[in-house]
Amino acid sequence: MNSKTTSRKIKKVLIANRGEIAVRIMETCQLMGIKTVGLYHLEEKELPHSLLGDESVCLGEGSLHDTYLNGDKIVEVALEKGADAIHPGYGFLSENAAFSKKVREAGILFIGPQAETMTLMGDKTESKKAMEKLGVPIIPGYHGDNQEDSFLKEEAQKIGYPLLIKASAGGGGKGMRVVYEDDLFIESLESARREAHNAFGNDKVLIEKYIENPRHIEVQVLSSCHGEHFHLFERECSIQRRHQKIIEESPSPALENDLRLEMCKVAVQITEGIQYEGAGTIEYILDEDGSFYFLEMNTRLQVEHPITEMVTGVDLVKSQIEVAEGRKLSFKQSDLEQKGHAIEARIYAENPDQDFLPSVGDIVTVGSPKGSGVRFDCGYQDGNTVSIKYDPMLAKLICWAEDRDTAISKTKISLKQVLFAGLKTNRQYLQRILDLEDFEKGITFTHFIPKHAEDLEDKGPTNNELALAIAAHFLCPEKGQRTSSQEKVDQVNGSSWDLLSNFRNS
Ligand code: ADP
Ligand code: ADP
Ligand code: MG
Repeated sequence: MNSKTTSRKIKKVLIANRGEIAVRIMETCQLMGIKTVGLYHLEEKELPHSLLGDESVCLGEGSLHDTYLNGDKIVEVALEKGADAIHPGYGFLSENAAFSKKVREAGILFIGPQAETMTLMGDKTESKKAMEKLGVPIIPGYHGDNQEDSFLKEEAQKIGYPLLIKASAGGGGKGMRVVYEDDLFIESLESARREAHNAFGNDKVLIEKYIENPRHIEVQVLSSCHGEHFHLFERECSIQRRHQKIIEESPSPALENDLRLEMCKVAVQITEGIQYEGAGTIEYILDEDGSFYFLEMNTRLQVEHPITEMVTGVDLVKSQIEVAEGRKLSFKQSDLEQKGHAIEARIYAENPDQDFLPSVGDIVTVGSPKGSGVRFDCGYQDGNTVSIKYDPMLAKLICWAEDRDTAISKTKISLKQVLFAGLKTNRQYLQRILDLEDFEKGITFTHFIPKHAEDLEDKGPTNNELALAIAAHFLCPEKGQRTSSQEKVDQVNGSSWDLLSNFRNS
């Protein structure tokens, strides 16, 4: 059962990723006395992930496939640099079983689960079949091999509308279509297949009942190769745009303790059932009547993992490294508790008022919020350029407090200090979400954003903000020229710089 019988101390880790997650992994490695090798695209030479490693290797100036997704080259670099492990972060090669095999065949530890588990869980069709066998509740639907249009349409009629067509190989919200009526089924099927083919090179789909008013709740799990299977409680991730999370919190405001424990218990049953090793996430859909269904398992570190770290005190990257070394976990299930409340807000380079269109450009200045219980995981620094080639997430603001109300207040205050001068970001949009009464009351369902579309529209700057923007402009008329007075304005209110960049971009 165990893939590793002896433990092996990791002395050097190559980080096969970029941006905030590469930096975050480096920080833990440094704390553990482990050397790091960073990778970068030539255009990203000045980004923190290229500067903060003990060593750093340029992958050239090619396409994504030639650089961050070039598994052969990455393994070659790891061997050359004498790295004994590779951490893949999230996205990119993190759920690529072939890459993990290649790494292991080269005699390097892969910080992640076994290749077979990644293959099983990377496929929404196969993973649903496996869950069915384990007796885990799944969303009613069709997840078989017959992909003929007419057959799928018949299955759709059996399931009933509304329903959801999903790419079997899907991820990141891609290849998904909600269908409300039979007449639109074939059209939606074709467009889901097209998107799936382009994104994943595989157009297989499954069909599920569309749950109309659900929450997205997920459980962090951690297993060692010694048969230890633990959960680290839940994260509520219902605030989503385009099926992608933008605000997450732990604990979920929706769960009574019995339901919480039940969801966590099923998550552990899953990891036991598939003999998982490493950190992972079991995603569920929670229906209004309290029924919950398995959605998918992510076999990697999740973007929103810091909120779990804040409430449990566990460093998940450290645990991942210990598991990869073949050690037992450094705590027991009974040691774990959810203490206080943590919220994460993802800062994106995008324009929420133009259908979340990604924005690009130069960042003049980055302003980072500070304070007790405030964490800012950021992938950029002053003078960096944001390119259209990569995911537009710039940073994550994570705030912890004793209770939910204080965590919300702290997040709102800290968001004001977040600054990416020169770039259009979703910062003010996040503020507007946190200001809504439904958010305050924990009425957070996955349709939260469409439901509140009107409330979330940009109503323009207040007189006060306009005055600050004008003051900032006069204190420093030239973009890029930092003066001590500009610094003062930044400290007083970062939003004036947002306003200036809004004016520039509008
Ligand atoms: P999480 O629950 O951690 O947000 P997601 O599945 O939404 O997980 O994706 C994590 C990260 O990986 C995001 O940055 C997302 O944009 C990226 N990602 C996931 N799958 C893909 C994919 N197939 N193609 C491109 N990016 C992806
Ligand atoms: P991905 O791999 O792209 O993350 P998921 O299956 O995890 O795909 O679904 C992403 C999001 O889509 C969920 O968080 C949820 O908001 C929504 N969703 C997925 N399945 C359903 C469903 N059957 N009914 C309603 N919403 C769903
Ligand atoms: Mg998902």
